[in-house]
Amino acid sequence: MSANSSHYDVIIIGGGASGLMCAMAAGQRGRRVLVIDSSNKIGKKILMSGGGRCNFTNYFVGPENFLSANQQFCISALNRYTQWDFIALVEKHRIPYHERLHGQLFCDDSAKDILAMLVSECEHVGVHIKTHCEIQQVQASESLPARFALTTTQGKYSAESLVVASGGLSIPTLGSSGFGYDLAKQFGHTVLPLRAGLVPFTFSDGMKAVTERLSGLAVPVSLSAADTTFTENLLFTHRGLSGPAVLQVSNYWQLGESIHIDLMPGEAIDAWLKEQKRLHAKSLLRTLLSERLAKGLVLELQTLLWPSWAETPMAAIPDAALTALAQQLQGWTLKPAGTEGYRTAEVTLGGVDTHELSSRTMESKRQAGLYFIGEVVDVTGWLGGYNFQWAWSSGHAAGQFV
Ligand SMILES: Cc1cc2nc3c(=O)[nH]c(=O)nc-3n(C[C@H](O)[C@H](O)[C@H](O)COP(=O)(O)OP(=O)(O)OC[C@H]3O[C@@H](n4cnc5c(N)ncnc54)[C@H](O)[C@@H]3O)c2cc1C
Repeated sequence: MSANSSHYDVIIIGGGASGLMCAMAAGQRGRRVLVIDSSNKIGKKILMSGGGRCNFTNYFVGPENFLSANQQFCISALNRYTQWDFIALVEKHRIPYHERLHGQLFCDDSAKDILAMLVSECEHVGVHIKTHCEIQQVQASESLPARFALTTTQGKYSAESLVVASGGLSIPTLGSSGFGYDLAKQFGHTVLPLRAGLVPFTFSDGMKAVTERLSGLAVPVSLSAADTTFTENLLFTHRGLSGPAVLQVSNYWQLGESIHIDLMPGEAIDAWLKEQKRLHAKSLLRTLLSERLAKGLVLELQTLLWPSWAETPMAAIPDAALTALAQQLQGWTLKPAGTEGYRTAEVTLGGVDTHELSSRTMESKRQAGLYFIGEVVDVTGWLGGYNFQWAWSSGHAAGQFV
C-alpha cells in the first residue's frame, strides 16, 4: 500500500452499531472513511440482539430513558437523529418489523437485515472496512490532514478525524474490549466507573435454592431499586433473577443494596386478604393465594413469609398479621449477592465522561479531531431499543462533523 492510499479523512475504530452509522453518515458527506474492527466480523452485537431479531429502536424515546452522570447530554443527538429517522431508513430498505410491548420495535425476520442495511449503505458511499485488524498504537500531532497516525497489525494508517466506537465491556466473546476507555485516558479523558448493566441478579443466601426450584417461572411484578420502579415480568432462573423487570432495575442497583418486589402490582391485597378471611374462614392462606400466584411460588413464600400460619385457617389469623403479610407480598425485600457481570450483561454503565465531549458533535474537548460515540460514552439506555437508538443518534451526530 502506498503512503497515500493509507490516508483517510476519517478512521472509525469499531464496526458495530454506532461505528457503521457514523461511517455511513460521513460517507454520505463525501468523506473517505475507513472502519477498523479487531473482530473477525463486524456488527456481532447487532446479530445477537433482541434474541436474533434486533430491538432496533422504540416509538417512545426521551432523555428519561437513559442513565448518565450528565442527564442532558444525550438530548441534542437524540433530537437530531430520532427513532423516526431510523425507522424511515428501515422502511427504505423494506425491512419488515413489528411493535412489541412499550413501543419496542423488532425485525420480523432477522437482525441480519439491520446489519445488511448498514453495510449496504456504507458500501454505497465507498466506506472501507477492515476486520481482524488490531490497533497497536495511536499518535496525534498538529499536522493536518494526517492528524492521527495509527499502527495496526495490517499496516499504518492516518486520518484527520478519529472516531472511537469500540463499545463497552459486555460479552467479551462478541469482541468487546476496554480499548476505547484506554484510548480516552491516553488523551486525558476521565472515564467514569464502569459496571455491568441490563444484567441478571445472583444470590448466595437461601434465595439461591429458592430461585433454582422456581427456575423457569415468570411473574408480572413491580420491581424497585434505589427509588426506581419497573412493572414488567420477573423470571426465576437457576442462577437467580432475570427477566425484563430485573434487567431494567439492574441499571439503578448498586452492590449491597436491596431490591423490593411487589408481587401483585396495583392491587389492594390487604383488603383482599381480609375479605377472603370473611368469605373463606376455613381456608388456608396458601389455597387462597394460589388463585392469584403460581402454586410453586406460594409454597416458597409460605416457608419464607408465614411459616407459623401455614396450617392455620384464615379465621384464626389476626388482621394485623394479614396486614403485615400484605405488606411483604407487595414489598418482598431481597438482597442480591451480585450480578452475572459482563459475561451476560447487555451493556456497560459509565464510560467516557460526557462533560469532556461536545453534545452536538461528540468531539473531544481535550483533543481536536477525536470523537467518542455509542456505548463507550457514559450514556446507557433502558432495555427496549434505547441502546441502539443512542448508537444511531450519537453515530449520526459525529458523522456530520468528522
Ligand atoms: C446480547 C445482547 C443483546 C442486545 N440487544 C439489544 C437490543 O435488542 N436493543 C438495543 O437497543 N440494544 C441491545 N443491546 C445493546 C447494544 O448491542 C449495544 O448498546 C450497541 O451494540 C452499542 O453499539 P456500539 O457501536 O457502541 O458498540 P458495539 O456494537 O459493541 O460495537 C463495537 C465494535 O468495536 C469492535 N472493537 C472492540 N474493540 C476494538 C478494538 N480494540 N479495535 C477495533 N475494534 C474493536 C468490536 O468488535 C465491535 O464490532 C444488546 C447487547 C447484547 C450484548
